[in-house]
Amino acid sequence: MYIANKERYETMKYNRCGKSGLLLPAFSLGLWHNFGSNDSYDNMVDLLTTAFDLGITHFDLANNYGPYPGSAEENFGKVLKHELSPYRDELIISTKAGYGMWDGPYGDHGSRKYLIASLDQSLKRMGLEYVDIFYHHRPDPDTPMEETASALDHIVRSGKALYVGISNYNAEQTKQMAEIMKSLGTPLVIHQPRYNMFERWIENGLQDVLKDEGIGSISFCPLAQGLLTNKYINGIPADSRAAKSSPFLTKEGITADKIEKIVKLNKIAENRGQSLAQMACAWNLRGGKLTSVLLGASKASQIIENVNSLNNLDFTQDELNAIEDALK
Ligand code: NDP
Repeated sequence: MYIANKERYETMKYNRCGKSGLLLPAFSLGLWHNFGSNDSYDNMVDLLTTAFDLGITHFDLANNYGPYPGSAEENFGKVLKHELSPYRDELIISTKAGYGMWDGPYGDHGSRKYLIASLDQSLKRMGLEYVDIFYHHRPDPDTPMEETASALDHIVRSGKALYVGISNYNAEQTKQMAEIMKSLGTPLVIHQPRYNMFERWIENGLQDVLKDEGIGSISFCPLAQGLLTNKYINGIPADSRAAKSSPFLTKEGITADKIEKIVKLNKIAENRGQSLAQMACAWNLRGGKLTSVLLGASKASQIIENVNSLNNLDFTQDELNAIEDALK
């Protein structure tokens, strides 16, 4: 069985999640890709244990991660049982429900029926009694927000999750949800939005709401699924996400315009003595607005490289300006 690195807490930074008691590592690991039924189990063990050895205490899942949907939770449960179980109290494990998971009217969206049944299924798949964070994965315009909120409140009170959060809610929806949750006595602790140099919608309102409400945030796709690295500059490598026919990052999505920006960004990163992936990670953490950066990885070496960005998190104003120019 795996024995964790004794020095795992020496270099990672831990940030307070909003105004809660929860500390999250500056880098977390997401299991959206590379943990499905066709992926290598040995590689999953390598990814999770490498992350934990670096002080990454937070692993992020969702009911539908796979493929097939649910297989990432099953695989995570297997690694947890065989390798990480002695460390359960050192881990923050999250899952979500909000996208289509099973047939019929109760396997999608934001009803109390769906959220509670889905979390019960997730707990079974992972072999857990509780998750640390449970998220509503996306807003549901057809379910009253009060119902979704009361389901989250119930989930915490029943001990199936320690904290709750939301993902993909816009600024106004977040404010409404935060108010309802406060009135129920179970605060929203975290928001999980998409955020990277190319996708910056959270700067226009959401970050202000999160600050006002004392809610933490964890950015997903911080490297734009691998675009914000140097890997696509000279073509599409065979072992990359874009080559593996992911519906989420297609070859067509890697346009000449994007590559031109990436080449400019890569130069700025080189001048900082960082890889572009490392600079993109550091850029996400600039100004201390985010609690954590939610990385994905297909290889353990990527986690090591990205976490090494902790060695240079500071930007000069000139560097920030150069990044803005490159993105124009
Ligand atoms: P990233 O933007 O970090 O992309 C990760 C991918 O980039 C890796 O799998 C790898 O792909 C490539 N990569 C990472 N590091 C490097 C490196 N140093 N050099 C070269 N390539 C690198 O994040 P994801 O898109 O994976 O999302 C992260 C997590 O966010 C998910 O696992 C999930 O937990 C969460 N998420 C949440 C959503 C939500 O709606 N709440 C939606 C989407 C994600 P490869 O090697 O295969 O090319």
